[in-house]
Amino acid sequence: MDPGSSESPNMGCNKTIVWFRRDLRIEDNPALAAAARDGFVYPVYIWCPKEEGQFYPGRVSRWWLKQSLAYLKQTLKSLGADLVLMKTQSTIFSLLECINAIGATKVAFNCLYDPISLVRDHNIKEKLVELGISVQSYNADLLYEPWDVYDENGNAFTTFKEYWDKCLLLQKELISTLPPWKLQQAAGMVGCCSIEELGLENESEKSSNALLARAWSPGWSNGDKALVEFVENHLLEYAINRQHLGGSSTSLLSPYLHYGEVSVCKVFQKVRMKQILWAREGNALGEQSTNLFLRAIGLREYSRYICFNFPFTYERSLLSSLKFFPWHDSQDNFKAWRQGRTGYPLVDAGMRELWATGWIHNRIRVIVSCFAVKVLLLPWKWGMKYFWDTLLDADLESDILGWQYISGSLPDGHELERLDDPQIQGSKFDPDGEYIRHWLPELARMPTEWIHHPWDAPQTVLHASGVELGLNYPTPIVELDLAANRLTEAIIKMREIEAAAGANSNGTNEVVMDNADRVQSVGTTNAAAAAKTTCATNSSNDQKVPTIQNSKVNNNPLSRKRSKAMEEKGEFQYNIRNNIQSEAGTSKSDEDLCSTAESSSSKKPSTSRTSFSVPQFCSSSKELPQSSEENTDR
Ligand SMILES: Cc1cc2nc3c(=O)[nH]c(=O)nc-3n(C[C@H](O)[C@H](O)[C@H](O)COP(=O)(O)OP(=O)(O)OC[C@H]3O[C@@H](n4cnc5c(N)ncnc54)[C@H](O)[C@@H]3O)c2cc1C
Repeated sequence: MDPGSSESPNMGCNKTIVWFRRDLRIEDNPALAAAARDGFVYPVYIWCPKEEGQFYPGRVSRWWLKQSLAYLKQTLKSLGADLVLMKTQSTIFSLLECINAIGATKVAFNCLYDPISLVRDHNIKEKLVELGISVQSYNADLLYEPWDVYDENGNAFTTFKEYWDKCLLLQKELISTLPPWKLQQAAGMVGCCSIEELGLENESEKSSNALLARAWSPGWSNGDKALVEFVENHLLEYAINRQHLGGSSTSLLSPYLHYGEVSVCKVFQKVRMKQILWAREGNALGEQSTNLFLRAIGLREYSRYICFNFPFTYERSLLSSLKFFPWHDSQDNFKAWRQGRTGYPLVDAGMRELWATGWIHNRIRVIVSCFAVKVLLLPWKWGMKYFWDTLLDADLESDILGWQYISGSLPDGHELERLDDPQIQGSKFDPDGEYIRHWLPELARMPTEWIHHPWDAPQTVLHASGVELGLNYPTPIVELDLAANRLTEAIIKMREIEAAAGANSNGTNEVVMDNADRVQSVGTTNAAAAAKTTCATNSSNDQKVPTIQNSKVNNNPLSRKRSKAMEEKGEFQYNIRNNIQSEAGTSKSDEDLCSTAESSSSKKPSTSRTSFSVPQFCSSSKELPQSSEENTDR
């Protein structure tokens, strides 16, 4: 018999509140299945804008949520239970209202791992347990929960490759639960509202949102269809197509995955089956494609892992050195970037697509985010927040990971000194200029030869194309040479300040203080326990973060990240690393030492990594894994 069936022999007569959040599906939903097995269910979705704080979802993300909730409500109704929607000032208050209304003895929900939900859920769990309510939480969002994967010393990994290799070694058995056949609704009345009354979409947003429905179909069964369509028709060529801008070269599953409309276990299993099949057939392309796609799923897992183990990565970068970076917090530049008026066609096209559709390809995300951080020197947190506000698939952990990756904040991410040239990237990723023509109609008549660098085009060409630089299309906001110099200077300054801060601290441990009322010392070892302690001490205010003891400050301006990716991509980048090193007075032998060590991927970290800012790790280039082309493609 179906384990989720209400007619299961184990069926009891408990009354369980099933608290839906970002698990808007019925298939492979362990909280729903367990509650259905146990007796009567009371499915509820609680919308509490106040508790979302600064991470209140943006317009397009809320549009998606609204459609998905409507879809889920319909499905649950057809199974026999209604999804109760509540708009509230306090989630715990609304949960208690439901508990009292139906006389529930249990609350079941699926875990979320972002720093905000972890704190909130822990507090709620504590309060409910105090009141004698049984609370059951399940994993419905990840293949591996963050506390499943540690190195041999019990420490959290800080590089993706090591993490994902370990995950693949674990060979965990993935168990998917079937959807219940039937649900028995627990009776009770609460102050609920309609989907419209939740206020996810206001009147002024409706007309722009209407366009989204042309391209996207939210809802769990559409997510399922999208998965099948991708696996059957596009997965095989993923290795070749995934770099193509526009179109459906990738799975487009990210918004479904964010709202839990597709089970990540199901995605993994389907792709793994293809992998086995293609391996047997000796289909090399198929194998490569499945490896790369599973790696993409691994990146999503890793984003949760990093945020869980280093819980304040959303407001502080993983590598502590960036805290000394002299950002240019120019509102004007930020505005020009947001509006797609930087004068660099590829960047502008990307930003216009983002604004118009709420979605951009990963390659474009990397290009526009690098431009913001490396060319405009805008704080990465600004970009992260803007993406959060505008992306259809806005996902706190993936967004954090993406921005930290490109801004030199991760040990295995882009080097801070790496500066890609948008003109050359344009010729590589949009060789015919079609992407530019689509999103920048003012450049539609530019010949392909000049479309990625109209500022170099002869006056006659500009005239014939109807382009008036500075009038109907901007001149570059900053020359790339100048940007490279500014970045060099900023990095030198950062290292000077960092060195001075290290000297002032007299070699003693750095303590990264947080903004919590009460502070806790938390390491990354036994992070699950640590996270519990953290949650327990913080209020439900989502901005509370723990104090971390860093064992050592990285004082050495030379001890930077590897330059492998730069070497590989030399022709596309401004090689400002050498400038930095000569200006900072580094010797050739230092550089050699660095690059030799950096090219060694086989070397294992020799020191333990028990602190958030990973100073020991990043202070020794020996410990850094080799950068792969795939890494740079992330
Ligand atoms: C600066 C920046 C910000 C980003 N912000 C977000 C975000 O807010 N939400 C989001 O879902 N993704 C984000 N990403 C990751 C990535 O760009 C998107 O997940 C991907 O483009 C979604 O398209 P897809 O579903 O077709 O991906 P596919 O290539 O088909 O990959 C399948 C799935 O793997 C996961 N995935 C793929 N690449 C990544 C990655 N680099 N990091 C984490 N997960 C990944 C996604 O869940 C994706 O749906 C960001 C990347 C960068 C560089």
